[in-house]
Amino acid sequence: MKSKYLISMLMMSAVLSVTGCTQNTVPSSSVPPVSEEIPNPDENEIDYLVLVNRQKEVPADWADQAEFVTLKNSMGDEISLEKKTADAFAELKDDLAQNHVNVDIYSGYRSVEEQQAVADDYTERYGEEYVRLNVAAPGYSEHHTGLALDLYLIVDGEAVYENEEMLEYSDLWAKVHARLAEHGFILHYLEGKEDITGFNYEPWHIRYVGQASAREIMEQGITLEEYLGEASSVDVEIDYGTSEIYTKDDMDEAITQIRKVFADFAGCELHNIRYTSDDCNSEENIKWMNELREDQEYTECIKFLSDFHTPAENSGAFEPDHEYTDYEWYLARSEGGSWEVLSYGY
Ligand SMILES: [Zn+2]
Repeated sequence: MKSKYLISMLMMSAVLSVTGCTQNTVPSSSVPPVSEEIPNPDENEIDYLVLVNRQKEVPADWADQAEFVTLKNSMGDEISLEKKTADAFAELKDDLAQNHVNVDIYSGYRSVEEQQAVADDYTERYGEEYVRLNVAAPGYSEHHTGLALDLYLIVDGEAVYENEEMLEYSDLWAKVHARLAEHGFILHYLEGKEDITGFNYEPWHIRYVGQASAREIMEQGITLEEYLGEASSVDVEIDYGTSEIYTKDDMDEAITQIRKVFADFAGCELHNIRYTSDDCNSEENIKWMNELREDQEYTECIKFLSDFHTPAENSGAFEPDHEYTDYEWYLARSEGGSWEVLSYGY
């Protein structure tokens, strides 16, 4: 299946679950300027629904418009947040503590320079391709707004802040998420919406939008992109087909990777993802995957097909307003490793 039209994608292996926000190893040293003129808060109200994502850059004058405050977490780190967001976070934290769920803030406002430092650090460690898929580009992180923050859990008095470890506390996160809207927060990086957000599920990354919008968004279980009409809310149909070698979990893990790559297909609407057949795990395909990435030793291959529709305008390399069908996705993994998208196209 070595089609010459296939676009080859080389990805660094995901050693860590590093995410849209990334567990920041760079200290938040630079505090944004505090606005000096606030005669009437209503007149100076910033846009709490501002959208910053992989396609939308933070407005150039954002740091001048917003008022920031600095708070200290239980580990003694100083973190900046937009003022209203900080107040709402304090309420959320108290509310949760009363229900015996203890959280604190791990990461808040991040300057473009700090995001660049994060990207540089991860590029050195995991390579460019990995960073392209897992770390927001400087200027395109929601953390630049000061309205987004990453929580960490405090379990039996101990701070739990490593992504992998935090993901194990789904029961605690469910309790946190149940209280978000009440305090004006939403969960942005939802499970199963990776094709819209471009990021893995992040139970710790919350975003302040204000109470009214938060209630609507959380009730509908949608992303901010969908709420603002920036992405279609069409459900992606998944067909797992039949397989004797892969479980539904194996396939879901692969599908998440496909959806993340698809998020870069700006304006395209994903309709379905379909498992092909166990024939995809052929010696020939595995050999081809290993040729694409000579530093890896892949032992398994998986192939899916998908249909999607391109936007009428700005369709990039795609034909505008066109339904692409049976678009192919090849992924491979090594023994004990995670699926990587290695090739997609026709
Ligand atoms: Zn984050």
